[in-house]
Amino acid sequence: MDLYEFQARELLVAHGVPVPRGRLARTPLQARQAARQLGMPVIVVKAQVKTGGRGKAGGVEVCHGGDEAQQAAERILGMDIKGHVVHSVLVVEGVDIAAEYYFSLLIDRAERRWLALCSVQGGMDIETLAREHPSELARVAVSPAQGISRAKAREIVVAAGFDPSLRDSIAEILVSLGEVFVSEDATLVEVNPLVLTGAGQVLAADAKVSLDDNAFFRHHDHKQFVDTSGEDPLELQAKARGLNYVRLDGEVGIIGNGAGLVMSTLDVVAAAGADLPGGPKPADFLDIGGGASAEVMAAALETVLADPNVRSIFVNVFGGITACDEVANGIVQAVGMVGGLPVPVVVRLDGNSVEEGREILRDFADPAITLVDTMDEAARRVAELAVTDTAAADAGRS
Ligand code: GDP
Ligand code: MN
Repeated sequence: MDLYEFQARELLVAHGVPVPRGRLARTPLQARQAARQLGMPVIVVKAQVKTGGRGKAGGVEVCHGGDEAQQAAERILGMDIKGHVVHSVLVVEGVDIAAEYYFSLLIDRAERRWLALCSVQGGMDIETLAREHPSELARVAVSPAQGISRAKAREIVVAAGFDPSLRDSIAEILVSLGEVFVSEDATLVEVNPLVLTGAGQVLAADAKVSLDDNAFFRHHDHKQFVDTSGEDPLELQAKARGLNYVRLDGEVGIIGNGAGLVMSTLDVVAAAGADLPGGPKPADFLDIGGGASAEVMAAALETVLADPNVRSIFVNVFGGITACDEVANGIVQAVGMVGGLPVPVVVRLDGNSVEEGREILRDFADPAITLVDTMDEAARRVAELAVTDTAAADAGRS
């Protein structure tokens, strides 16, 4: 889960990282009040969206006084930054920036450890920094067992080339940022820019934190960070029903059991569709998991059918602990629960009790259901049905 800057700042503050004072505002009037309460001659109004490059997009404005803050908030609220609509702004005290630095700590999966990136060139995005000043971007491996110790922090600031007079104060902040990473179960902590003020203070002027969703259960205080305003409503509904569903932008609904099987199903359907007119593609990833009860199958069908782009559905199940006959019964009952199938469904069953499963579906004899024995053949059929059905739908409309 990615956090908004105002949320990330809370975690930084909790671990002793200094940040400029600020308040969140959801309306221009609140921005005006926040600016007044901060009581500083210079304030900065910042769009709160879960994407970088807000500055370049016009989402960060330096203002003087409440009137200007209110006007800036009027401009920024509702703005679309790379597809993210701004619903709130952070109003912070303006700092007198003498220098901007870069720091991030992330997981280096390939090396099975963490990686700290640090530079005395901050403010620009990391991709630009890596491209334009590669020699000024220090990359220091960090052991997950040790985190950022004092010695490690010192190694990082030396590698980044900080002036000796700044090393201690920067290193102290890096230790705290390392604590944020460990204690909060983060997968990314990035501060860009880390600023040096004219008065010689070091502050995190921007903060980006991503939390590990797998560790969510042990952080009750992270519940407050959950924000569903930007999520797909179908995905939210599926999550609430305990389904592992990801919406994609194609026309072929996919339901399967086991993440690996569902992923390979997406591949074969995409490959089969690529040769057809209109190139139908998978509409979703939906893993119903091990116990495919009728309720789960009905919830899965309902979820996939709620996507108006879906023209055909592929149910691809490999019977294991849940045998194919149970799955087939699940499909039969599910069809009743959803009140009939409005689009053609191709079913491929294999594995435990496959013959019994196929028998049940043959007896059910729903004209919308086609049984196909192999996965490749089923992928071809379901892709063709998506095309035929699209053509029929278009003809119906014209
Ligand atoms: P981003 O563009 O999404 O990364 O947003 P940032 O929070 O990093 O802000 C972009 C830029 O705005 C920073 O690199 C600074 O140059 C500038 N900025 C942010 N806060 C202040 C501030 O308090 N004072 C001044 N003068 N500039 C600021
Ligand atoms: Mn930034």
